[in-house]
Amino acid sequence: MTTATTESRTFEADVSRLLHMMVHSVYSDRDVFLRELISNAADACEKLRYEGIATPTLIGDDGKLAITIAADPEAGKLSISDNGIGMSRDELIEALGTIARSGTRAFMEQVEAAKGKDGAQLIGQFGVGFYSAFMVAAEVDVVSRRAGSSEAWHWTSDGKGEFSVAPAPLEDAPERGTRVLLSLLDDAKTYAERWTLERIVKAQSGHVPVPIHLIEKPGAEATSLADGAALWTKPKSEIKPEDYTDFYRSVAAQYDEPAATIHFRAEGRHEYTTLAFVPGSKPFDLLDADRKGRMKLYVKRVFITDEAELLPRYLRFVRGLVDTADLPLNVSREMIQDSPLLAAIRKGVTNRILGDLGKLAENDADAFGKIWENFGPVVKEGLYEDYERREQLLTLARFASTATAGLRSLKDYVAALRENQTAIYYIVGDDPARIATSPQLEGFRARGIEVLLLSDPVDSFWVSSAPDYEGKPFKSVTQGAADLGLIPLVDGATPRAESSPEVASLLEAMKLALAGEVADVRASDRLTESAVCLVAPDSGPDRQFEKLLSAAGRIDSAAKPVLEVNVQHSLVLSLAGLQDDSLRNDLAHLLLDEARILDGERPTDARSFSGRLGRLIAQALAVSR
Ligand code: ADP
Repeated sequence: MTTATTESRTFEADVSRLLHMMVHSVYSDRDVFLRELISNAADACEKLRYEGIATPTLIGDDGKLAITIAADPEAGKLSISDNGIGMSRDELIEALGTIARSGTRAFMEQVEAAKGKDGAQLIGQFGVGFYSAFMVAAEVDVVSRRAGSSEAWHWTSDGKGEFSVAPAPLEDAPERGTRVLLSLLDDAKTYAERWTLERIVKAQSGHVPVPIHLIEKPGAEATSLADGAALWTKPKSEIKPEDYTDFYRSVAAQYDEPAATIHFRAEGRHEYTTLAFVPGSKPFDLLDADRKGRMKLYVKRVFITDEAELLPRYLRFVRGLVDTADLPLNVSREMIQDSPLLAAIRKGVTNRILGDLGKLAENDADAFGKIWENFGPVVKEGLYEDYERREQLLTLARFASTATAGLRSLKDYVAALRENQTAIYYIVGDDPARIATSPQLEGFRARGIEVLLLSDPVDSFWVSSAPDYEGKPFKSVTQGAADLGLIPLVDGATPRAESSPEVASLLEAMKLALAGEVADVRASDRLTESAVCLVAPDSGPDRQFEKLLSAAGRIDSAAKPVLEVNVQHSLVLSLAGLQDDSLRNDLAHLLLDEARILDGERPTDARSFSGRLGRLIAQALAVSR
């Protein structure tokens, strides 16, 4: 039994915070609230259409689903009504008292992180649902009647922390569905004016798949604002770019321009239409790999689910829909997931999207570069998740590189290989600025060998799954004894001279002094300016990858590295002539710590490090006195 009296409740704490932000926001583009309410109304109609397949009585003889916007400019009121699925009392309390969508939480986290500074800006980039009504309304009343129910409920709030729910007399309630009534704020009265409403609906919601009517004042006839025709079923030649943009905004909940639009009809064994978009900027939940609802599945224009996995995870930034006539309308959502049709669609749509991106990369490198900047780190997950398309994904991928300031493709890299060069060299690290100045790169630069600079968190993972590209293996510059000796220096100089007996015995002495900490000390081909650097032992994995694994507790500890020494460096040459054993010992340790610091690490024993440095400074001061 439900209570028959008015019940007041407080909003969940997060909702209160969100509402506070809405009400106090100085965000200038408040128009977005209308798109949010229309989108909820359209969803409610689509849900009813779907439930009505199994239970036709829910729809009965009121089969014309529609959204009606009714304005009362004199009273400063505006209502948005739909004859969709409606909400029961519990659904009202749940849906309009808590934060249902994960995206809204992500939004709030961003605002908190920005310390409220540009929170207002964020509202515009990001739909925040029903609660955005409080940007324009002093009070919001929602009257709803669930399809098939004989009860109606009235939810009301001024957005200041509490809401109340009471039974609504049936004569005031819609016969089915929901009416959201806004009592507009004094400075928002324009939202009850015909021309404002027309403008906003045409710009933001002209292509929702449910017709929209406008009643411009009490007693007026309804006029049509949008016909509810499914944009994706129209021939491409009849669709204008702004139609696509408008549709993209409503399907993707983004407010920018799409960076790529992919619209095609597959014919043959399976027939389906796809309309998909690559967003122009990063959606807030991009890194949330579990978030559902990226691509919607329609059957004969009826929305079925947004939880079918129509795309692989590494394309989770793509938004849009697939509409097919090859599934029965009453297909259960569980059946869909296992159907061979879904697998075929998934394959077809994935191939098409990657193919179109590949063409864009060829024809408009700048446009593709922007897409790659936003979504490359996600697409790269495909390099270890989708072996079948690895070559294709590698061809698509773009990388920072020592060769240019811009992005490089592997095709360019391979075309510019140096004589005797057999591998694609890379360096990984989390800080792009630091890896670009790593000492390990010196010998590569001196030989004119390009090195890819990989600084996305996923890079370590795909690159260590040992791929190759056009038969060229990927090789880390910090790994093993890179066979640099075979490749001539660009300035024609002869590579490293055979080291003198003094240098050879210095290396031996250092090996002894550092025995517990490094696997080996040896002369380097990698260095031209720095005195020392650390590399992985010959058969060991890339050092950065190993560090990641040990930080994640996946391996006990990283293998001991090899200390490489630049035997032409003046510091090393004078060290070789040094007679004082204890000073030599100090310097060996200091050089090792220097190499660690250059790798973004810390000296392992800070006390000993500062002791040695102190002794050295004291000596230097004594000499200069
Ligand atoms: P979202 O639409 O992203 O879920 P909202 O805050 O806009 O987030 O809405 C929260 C929930 O309220 C919706 O998921 C839906 O269950 C319910 N709701 C909102 N408006 C309507 C409506 N017009 N008809 C039916 N349910 C609605």
